[in-house]
Amino acid sequence: VAKERGGARVQCFDAALRTRLLERISIAHDLRDCESRGELRVQYQPLLTASGRRLVGAEALLRWEHPTRGLVSPGDFIPVAEETGLIVPIGTWVLDESLRQLRCWLDDLNDPDDQAGDQGDLSIAVNLSSLQLQSPGIVTLVEEMLHRHRIPPHLLVLELTESMVMNDAESSNGTLHQLRELGVALAIDDFGTGYSSLAYLRQLPINLLKIDRSFIEAMTDSERDRRVVAVICSLGHELGMETIAEGIETERQLEMLRGMRCDLVQGFHLGRPTTPEAIAKLLALRQR
Ligand code: C2E
Ligand code: MG
Ligand code: MG
Ligand code: MG
Repeated sequence: VAKERGGARVQCFDAALRTRLLERISIAHDLRDCESRGELRVQYQPLLTASGRRLVGAEALLRWEHPTRGLVSPGDFIPVAEETGLIVPIGTWVLDESLRQLRCWLDDLNDPDDQAGDQGDLSIAVNLSSLQLQSPGIVTLVEEMLHRHRIPPHLLVLELTESMVMNDAESSNGTLHQLRELGVALAIDDFGTGYSSLAYLRQLPINLLKIDRSFIEAMTDSERDRRVVAVICSLGHELGMETIAEGIETERQLEMLRGMRCDLVQGFHLGRPTTPEAIAKLLALRQR
């Protein structure tokens, strides 16, 4: 009997696995030409200074408007895009679209007919997948795109994860240095969730540490987590980096982060991922 039940469980597990597999194959299939069908969108989430809540940038977050599935969130299709390699062309599209959009915002800001005149800069943060970082032409691609959209390189922030940078630190190091030489800024995303070797962190040409949302969430109830965040902020500053906290949902979290001298903040409390038009409105209202 036990054996039979065990067998049934295996079958049951197989069925669930099968469903998930078919689901992934179906997503993989639809993903193949989602770009040419015009189903990809980018939403932009505001990045603000912690001290004055000044809008200084936006993170580009990919969305897929599937004809039957509706809006598919990145958590559901980016893993599939990575497994199939489709993340490379999709990522190229995101970079192109985000830089094109940034150009529009900068043109609005610096409209020569506008009395206010030069309203300063805005940066764009784009998530990069490890396959993109490893793809041979990545440095040239970034350089050409910056040129095509006339974007000063320092306004582009490429977000990488700890595992990407640490796992193949040897091979990615060269590429990261080349990207830095272009003038592009580099951020470590979801910092604290992977495991960073301090030796590498010290060597790598990283400009920004982006503290993972899970720490920000835990910080409100736990003194220990609060200290962890404070230490990450100091660590970043000691290494000459700026710190960003992501996932801020309350004013209290914002106040705590200000106390820790965290530089930049991002989260639903400050602005959800939104349309380019909404960002343009925020920019128009921005104080000098
Ligand atoms: P991420 O880069 O860490 O982006 C931040 C995620 O946290 C976004 O989820 C954002 O909507 C969400 N978020 C921001 N503030 C809050 C908050 O206050 N509370 C909560 N609960 N969530 C918040 P999203 O847009 O679903 O993206 C998920 C992940 O997908 C991203 O995490 C990033 O790793 C990946 N991703 C998104 N766009 C791209 C892309 O163009 N290329 C690549 N390779 N990955 C991308
Ligand atoms: Mg990110
Ligand atoms: Mg993140
Ligand atoms: Mg995250």
